[in-house]
Amino acid sequence: MNADTGRKYRLCPTDGQADRLTAWGHTCRWLYNTALEQRQFAWQQRKVTLRLAAQCAYLTEARKELGWVADLPAQSGQQVLRQLDQAYQNWWNPQHPAGAPTRKRKSARLSVPFPGQAVQVRRLNRRWGAVILPKVGEVKFRWSRPLGGAVRNAVVSFDGVAWHVGFGVHASVKAPAAHARPDTIVGVDRGVKVALAMSDGRMWNRAFATPGQERELARLKSKAGRQETARRKRGATTSHRARKVRAEIARTSAKIRNRRRDFVMWAANRLCAQHAVVKLERLNIEGMTATGKGTIAEPGTNVRQKAGLNRAILDKGWGLFHVALANQARTTGTQIVRVPAAFTSQRCSRCGNTDRSNRESQATFRCGSCGYQANADVNAAINVRDAAEAAPPLTGRAVRDRNRKASCRPPTQRRQRAALETGISRR
Ligand SMILES: [Zn+2]
Repeated sequence: MNADTGRKYRLCPTDGQADRLTAWGHTCRWLYNTALEQRQFAWQQRKVTLRLAAQCAYLTEARKELGWVADLPAQSGQQVLRQLDQAYQNWWNPQHPAGAPTRKRKSARLSVPFPGQAVQVRRLNRRWGAVILPKVGEVKFRWSRPLGGAVRNAVVSFDGVAWHVGFGVHASVKAPAAHARPDTIVGVDRGVKVALAMSDGRMWNRAFATPGQERELARLKSKAGRQETARRKRGATTSHRARKVRAEIARTSAKIRNRRRDFVMWAANRLCAQHAVVKLERLNIEGMTATGKGTIAEPGTNVRQKAGLNRAILDKGWGLFHVALANQARTTGTQIVRVPAAFTSQRCSRCGNTDRSNRESQATFRCGSCGYQANADVNAAINVRDAAEAAPPLTGRAVRDRNRKASCRPPTQRRQRAALETGISRR
């Protein structure tokens, strides 16, 4: 029985435990990158595809020779290799949008995976639980919600602000046959000024970064840039101070990210609880946020404006919203319907007159034909609600996958190009 639900808790390791988990996180990244290089090398030199079992045997050898690799629990190492193997499987799978596996950067989130057999979970009292990890023993975590099933795997991670433990849980989630409030249809317009506008007139928005945080982030980023330039000039390693600045950037970004995540989950939860059908315009986020720079021969126009719009689109967390919605729909039985996005913001929702001039400004819509006046985003949401379905409804993973890589590029071509670059070919 595989995990079908995730549960994440705030982990509170002691200083000693945190140091060891940090070291393991770096070892895991090293292992992933080394195993990836090994696969690429084996293919380039001998046209051999290394698989999981072979790489696990190499890991056993490495553990005998390198003390710091041996310090990482063997099961975690195998789990990392399993993740790499899955990344390859996804790349080879024509149904899957994933590209070729890439190296994990040093700045990537620290994480240590464990298989389900390696961990035990214990409830200490009403507020606290403990997860028993190999070698470090009992680590306390805040029991903020019920586990709801059997633990299949665990990931300990650090996001720049705090440690977390995530469990993959087999909770046997089943969608009810019918929604609790049948015949409740809502159209949703995702915007840049207002994050979500509903066809019933509701508008939800939240600022994720405070003005102070934005200023602070800009200051820290330029400082990190200066330090990096100076470091390159000297040819030195990253200084202690530069590391501190980077940690501060990660910390502030994580705070902003958490707030965005909270808003998106909250909105998805409400929409699914209140409506049997949620209609969204089909957006091509990757295409929309593609860089406007163009090429040297054909420079793009309005590059700066486009960059600003991109930041605004990515800032609202639209992609994540779709994933959250599909996830919530599994428990409420809500149907998620995607409709074509074209002209929803220019068409009058009362008489159907479609004209660019109908949109008086960012905020107001005034129909040139019948005089209907409304908030521009709400008018668009009503159009979305009344539009015909674009494609069969997708749920769960299909939504995530379809959304993650938009259809703006032919997949085979990109895979071939990636294959040339990394020296790996499809099986
Ligand atoms: Zn009209």
